[in-house]
Amino acid sequence: MIIVAIDGHSSCGKSTMAKWLARKVGYIYVDTGAMYRTVTLFAIRNGFITPDARIDEEGLKKALNDVEIGFQLDPNTKLPLACLNGEVVEKEIRGMEVSGLVSPIAALPFVREKLTAQQKAMGEKKGIVMDGRDIGTAVFPQAELKVFVTASAEVRAKRRFLELQEKGEKNLNYDEILKNVQERDYIDSHREMNPLRQAEDAVVLDNSNLTIDEQNQLLLKMFEERKG
Ligand code: C5P
Repeated sequence: MIIVAIDGHSSCGKSTMAKWLARKVGYIYVDTGAMYRTVTLFAIRNGFITPDARIDEEGLKKALNDVEIGFQLDPNTKLPLACLNGEVVEKEIRGMEVSGLVSPIAALPFVREKLTAQQKAMGEKKGIVMDGRDIGTAVFPQAELKVFVTASAEVRAKRRFLELQEKGEKNLNYDEILKNVQERDYIDSHREMNPLRQAEDAVVLDNSNLTIDEQNQLLLKMFEERKG
């Protein structure tokens, strides 16, 4: 068994392909973005974000010690659902409020330390497909297969718009979504600790002009070549 690390920009379809591969080959799938989103939801719910959008870092740092971020398997789909202290929060973490605050929260070193330690432990037995921003560079630098996924910001914003629309989100604004995607790209690439960047030994996959099926097949081919 191997470790598959899938990194890339916001809303580039990483999770879709990672989930598909994990199911196809019977590996565990871990969406690390969901973990950062869950911490963000915790911070919002517990008043660690001020009305002018500043983060109470001291308060959050203390409170985070007793917070459990994890997953539960959906009994029907067998896919992992993000949990905050045992409560499934999958729907709450996908909205625009969390999306707008997650990158500054994910830039805090104490948040990254907590979550990367947990992620490393999840991969101890290998047989895992993990997606995020720093999986091939910081969480699993030893991963046998590293893929860096990208697509133009406009293509990604359009996909995200359609995805949220499908989920029944109201009052969607394409320009706002594009701005959010670009802002997250910027913050994720410029933060001090483990910024988003392509690992030297990663394979780049630009899916701007690929269908989901085409990208899945490309990923499967890479997996077959690396799995030994
Ligand atoms: O993947 P997703 O877009 O859901 O991730 C949400 C946010 O979580 C990203 O914009 C990024 O700020 C943060 N993140 C991170 N490191 C990861 C995964 C996500 O900093 N490994």
